[in-house]
Amino acid sequence: MIIGGGPAGHSAASAAASLGAEVTLIERDIVGGAAHLWDCVPSKAMIATGDQLARVNAGQTMGFTADGRIDIEALTARIADIEKRLNESFVGMLTNQKVRMIHGVGRLTGPHTVEVDTESGCETLHADFVLLSTGSRPRVPDWAPVDHERVLTTRDAYPPPAIPEHLIVVGSGVTGVEFANMFARFGSKVTLIVSRQQVLPGKDPEAAAVLEDSFLERGIDLLKGARASAIRREGDEIIVECSDGRVVRGSHTVLAIGSIPNSEGLGLEAAGVEVEPWGAVKVDHNLRSSVPHIYAAGDLAGTLPLSSVATMQGKKIAQHMMGLHKLPHRHLDYEKAASAIFTDPEIADVGLAEADAFASGRKVRVTKVPFSANPKALIEGDPRGFVKIVSDPATGVVLGGSIVGRSAAELISVIAVAVTNGLKVSDIWESVLVHPSLAESIAEAAE
Ligand SMILES: Cc1cc2nc3c(=O)[nH]c(=O)nc-3n(C[C@H](O)[C@H](O)[C@H](O)COP(=O)(O)OP(=O)(O)OC[C@H]3O[C@@H](n4cnc5c(N)ncnc54)[C@H](O)[C@@H]3O)c2cc1C
Repeated sequence: MIIGGGPAGHSAASAAASLGAEVTLIERDIVGGAAHLWDCVPSKAMIATGDQLARVNAGQTMGFTADGRIDIEALTARIADIEKRLNESFVGMLTNQKVRMIHGVGRLTGPHTVEVDTESGCETLHADFVLLSTGSRPRVPDWAPVDHERVLTTRDAYPPPAIPEHLIVVGSGVTGVEFANMFARFGSKVTLIVSRQQVLPGKDPEAAAVLEDSFLERGIDLLKGARASAIRREGDEIIVECSDGRVVRGSHTVLAIGSIPNSEGLGLEAAGVEVEPWGAVKVDHNLRSSVPHIYAAGDLAGTLPLSSVATMQGKKIAQHMMGLHKLPHRHLDYEKAASAIFTDPEIADVGLAEADAFASGRKVRVTKVPFSANPKALIEGDPRGFVKIVSDPATGVVLGGSIVGRSAAELISVIAVAVTNGLKVSDIWESVLVHPSLAESIAEAAE
């Protein structure tokens, strides 16, 4: 029995069904989850539109001229079409696998019982195993009077009713910088409130510096060392006050300050499932809760809030429920999860970061190759950024890497495969890659 059909829930449903389990999936919105409805898919769809627009606007440097203009209606239809196609494909696959899908709101009423409220009434179901994968929602602090019109959460912006004239983005983590980048592309004036001295705290400082340079070049204001502490609306003007007294005025503001696990109303107490103080379900390394046959995954488990991680967790849980943990297999290693930031330029990383290696005193070999000498980058007209590989100097095993530049989110996969499988730098540079390609810089960094 699975409550929540996002990446964690539907991947677990499919994997468990293919292993022979009888599976019921309860979802209150759409199979695909918030990831498809509000997070990964619509955000990347809008970012892709912004990317194309930037290419059109840079036409003269590529030898043509064109006029780019955003059509909100067409953009909305495009996002809806992508969501529909993905939903149809997931529902089709689960139907073929004979997964019972119930459209409704589920909650535990005991360790082995789940109650579902549907349009046609309430149903009580028995389950041998339960997976809770109800995701999370945007965090809205007391000082932010969200009105979904000018004071927005990330969910109000796909797309917003109108392109903001001046958007104040509160928060400079992954979501915040993606929003700043996207709306600057759409022609908004953007101010980014950065609580520390660097955007993307915790990420490679060299990567963050390239992004900051790109933001400043494009006229994005960075308000560094500032913490938003109050938001007011005066007519059509939004005023964001910071705790050090600084004040920013704009037409809209969007909060990108994290999310809260959806653990309320799930009947966790009735089943004896323990919860962390911040709302995530407490889990062990197999993602079992304090009640061994009840698992939690994805944003609800509060491990690493990524769709890719939720999907892998769902698969691992299905294997564990079906007894496959007795076979030798690798546990999910969160430190080897690749992640990307879809900005201009893109930033992606995986495994051990250079700064963390130095902080822990671990000896590493770091090689960095800029894209400025890569033929494909020059052909594409975008030679910004670099590839960095962190390896073990004694064995040559690839420990991590980061890439800044065009298609970094795709390119990092090469290093991710090496990190996950313990490959050596020689395994990369001895591969004959395509020429001209951006990936050649990865081989060069490995050499
Ligand atoms: C703006 C934004 C952009 C993002 N972009 C990326 C990205 O590019 N790449 C990436 O890897 N990650 C991205 N993420 C993170 C990613 O969206 C989440 O980590 C992922 O959605 C978590 O998956 P999940 O299965 O835990 O939950 P969700 O996708 O949130 O799905 C949970 C589902 O449970 C359902 N549900 C909740 N309660 C109940 C109930 N009681 N009964 C029935 N159904 C219920 C909900 O309707 C929902 O469909 C982004 C996040 C945000 C906010």
